[in-house]
Amino acid sequence: MSVAWRRTLEWAPALAAGLFALAAARAWSAPATGSPLWLAALGLAALAAAFHRPFGGAGLGLGAAVLPLAVAVHGVTVAGLLAGATALTAELLHRSLRRRLATERDERRSPLRLLAGAAAATAAAIAATAAGLARPGWGLAAYLGVLGGLESAARMAREPGVERASPIALAGPLALAATGYGAGLAIAAAADRGGFGLGVTLLLLWGLLAAEAARQALYRAASERRLGDLLAANREARRRQQASAGGAPGIAAEVHAECRKALAPAWFQFDLFPREGEPQSWWARGEEAPEPGEAEPPPSPPALPGFHRRPAWRLLDYPLLADGAQVARLRLWCDPRRLDPAAVELLETLLPQLAGRVQGVLLDREAREDPLTGAVLRRHLERRLALAFARSLDTGSPLTVVMCDLDHFKRINDDHGHAAGDEVLRRAAAVLRAHCRERDLCARYGGEEFTLLLEDTGGETGLEIAERVRRAIAALEVPIEGDEILRVTASAGVATFPDLHARGPGDLVALADAALYEAKRQGRNRCLLDLGGGRLRTVDGSVVEGAAVRPPVEPPRLFA
Ligand code: GH3
Ligand code: MG
Ligand code: MG
Repeated sequence: MSVAWRRTLEWAPALAAGLFALAAARAWSAPATGSPLWLAALGLAALAAAFHRPFGGAGLGLGAAVLPLAVAVHGVTVAGLLAGATALTAELLHRSLRRRLATERDERRSPLRLLAGAAAATAAAIAATAAGLARPGWGLAAYLGVLGGLESAARMAREPGVERASPIALAGPLALAATGYGAGLAIAAAADRGGFGLGVTLLLLWGLLAAEAARQALYRAASERRLGDLLAANREARRRQQASAGGAPGIAAEVHAECRKALAPAWFQFDLFPREGEPQSWWARGEEAPEPGEAEPPPSPPALPGFHRRPAWRLLDYPLLADGAQVARLRLWCDPRRLDPAAVELLETLLPQLAGRVQGVLLDREAREDPLTGAVLRRHLERRLALAFARSLDTGSPLTVVMCDLDHFKRINDDHGHAAGDEVLRRAAAVLRAHCRERDLCARYGGEEFTLLLEDTGGETGLEIAERVRRAIAALEVPIEGDEILRVTASAGVATFPDLHARGPGDLVALADAALYEAKRQGRNRCLLDLGGGRLRTVDGSVVEGAAVRPPVEPPRLFA
């Protein structure tokens, strides 16, 4: 059953209870019906509604139930006081129950709001009752109008993202309210004919039904909340895992998680400033994990029409400083209605610590990454490759190494200068990195030669990835000074363990390097997968004999 439909159903008994009370009160508003039994029945119906909703069902149900009798017996002043008191009791009862069931996470608990809710419910009850006493049709109209308004307000207060409770969302509850009103009238009429006992019995049955539905709704809310907590814990665990994987994306996720612990920014932006190379940015919406890149936050928080004017985002903008230098910038767009000054203060005290962590990541990255291309340094590749090889030996899962080298790169340097060569190198490396999945590694093996380390990846997939990289590099257009556009191609060799015999990671790299050499020999701008036995495969499926595949022309350069 859809959530909207379930919510609609939850309304039914509470509203019907309130409505029934209204109709019944109208039918029996004479002082003679103020008997204790009748009062108890009305009270039960109203209490059932009280368990349900503070605005719509509870207060209104209570007020509507008690008010007409009170007016008839004691006059308007006492009736007003009584209605206020019952609405307040309903509100308190409701809150204490929800708190006990821990369903009240975001509910504001201020006494002022509580009183305002009770007062609104009382006013609504008085309006609806007065209209209903005069004529049933007016009572229905007043009742539906007031309920619609109150429910709309309650929804918007509960869900700050909701701009307007849609008419469709309100249609269901209101239709049920109308049905309840009709049912109430019918029961009242039945009681008129069948006698006072029948009226009380029906009223009690109705009240019990409403109480049970309300109880179930509350338990369902509690279990949904627990499920929500579980999901949030999962997300947090994933974020931590991502963070502990290290590197720059990890630090963005870590900073985001810290910010979310203190306050709930609607929009998060994090800029990282490495000492060398380009700044990097991440953004995140709400609880979602940060995405790389820059993005504009939405123009302003959603408004609550009729209650508030549209407020502007409150932007918290912090430079993160470590050893006197700015290592990052943190920007949080917060909804001013939900901003707690104490939480902001807490976050501000955390900033130096965060800056320290960011600096640690940057230093670590500097030690690991080549500043020109952003690919990891060979030293780090060796460590990762040794681990990956051991893992592959252990589990038997395939490990693929791609060696990729730019073609005739020397000419670019010679013809256009070293700076142009650097730019081409940077752009080609960006292509390589962009084709890496999260677990893959892109290393600068040396000069203009790169290594992709692809764990749990077979040779065929490795060849496809290499081919995609080759095509993307061939499609690159690198603008250089003088409005010239440079193009470059690359060749790649692919080798996979355990498909190929390798005694260690060094052998695997040597095999991929030999395949690369063969790709160069066969004309460059191509990729070859070593099939073993001196045969190599191209991406279109043709198999070629490798003239110089074994032994490698150059001795293995890694682990030699
Ligand atoms: P091929 O690989 O197709 O056989 O030809 P190639 O011209 O690319 O051959 P080679 O590997 O001999 O040349 C590599 C050149 O790359 C030599 C060196 O000047 C240049 N190089 C190495 N590192 C850098 C660098 O960081 N920046 C620039 N601009 N050039 C570099
Ligand atoms: Mg080259
Ligand atoms: Mg080279």
